[in-house]
Amino acid sequence: MIIDGKKTAAKLRADIKKQISELKISINSVPCLSVILVGEDPASKIYVKNKEKYSKEVGINSEVIKYPENIEEKIILDKIKELNKNNKVSGILVQLPLPKHIDKRKIIETILPSKDVDGFHPVNVGNLSSGYESNVPCTPLGCFLLLKEVESDLNGKHAVVIGRSNLNGKPMAQLLLKENCTVTIAHSKTKNLKSECSRADIIIAAVGKPKLIKADWVKSQAIVIDVGINKTDTGIVGDVDFDEVSKNVRAITPVPGGVGPMTIACLLHNTVECFKRANS
Ligand code: NAP
Repeated sequence: MIIDGKKTAAKLRADIKKQISELKISINSVPCLSVILVGEDPASKIYVKNKEKYSKEVGINSEVIKYPENIEEKIILDKIKELNKNNKVSGILVQLPLPKHIDKRKIIETILPSKDVDGFHPVNVGNLSSGYESNVPCTPLGCFLLLKEVESDLNGKHAVVIGRSNLNGKPMAQLLLKENCTVTIAHSKTKNLKSECSRADIIIAAVGKPKLIKADWVKSQAIVIDVGINKTDTGIVGDVDFDEVSKNVRAITPVPGGVGPMTIACLLHNTVECFKRANS
């Protein structure tokens, strides 16, 4: 089975759109997402444009605040503080990566946790790892929802998460743990990745190495979620050797068209959740 991320993301967006039209009637207000974009990174500009496009599609008001590459850190921090205080703003996102002279950690920690739609603030990270309600980073949340489409009962499953970034691997592992999976987190220093993978019922690959995971690493009937986005001479490929691995597994996400579309849909979801909590 090929897991269709586009279809699931469209379903999620339709559900969010419906929720927003109901909220509009019940509390006469809609969520607003503020996105801060610093510099001219082409990939970041595309991501932000898509975030704006899909926000509009579901009925979220969005504003993009743009700064030049050489902007002073203090100006961004002051803007975040202003957005924190603005009751009309439900969610704040600072597009990463940031220029080197800006302290990413300081930026993330200045965003009010209740408006941190990326789920990167330490309070949200702590709440997730404590099993409490929190904003969950969008890409792992998207992976989780795709996984649940295939297997609703994750109880006792052995999951191998490859990659331990704050963005993907670590929050993914927490989500799986919460569902009673036995979780192995692998990384660049893991001794025998092939043997770790071969025991997994679920593999989440968030590495950034084209076609790293081969067919003979994967148990038949495993579920494979590929987060990787790698530019190669033959186009964009994932971290999994899709053509070979897909022959033998229960379900797998393609790249593109798997996890990617879910990331923005989950950002919209997080924005609505922040709005609902602020208005409850
Ligand atoms: P990252 O911060 O670079 O982390 C990569 C992780 O992979 C690190 O933990 C690293 O280990 C581990 N690793 C590197 N080489 C390895 C190897 N040979 N064997 C095992 N583990 C290895 O990357 P990221 O931000 O998490 O992103 C991962 C991938 O997902 C990238 O391709 C990125 O483009 C993609 N991505 C996709 C989406 C989406 O929406 N689909 C969103 C975000 C990112 P160490 O910790 O030991 O260095």
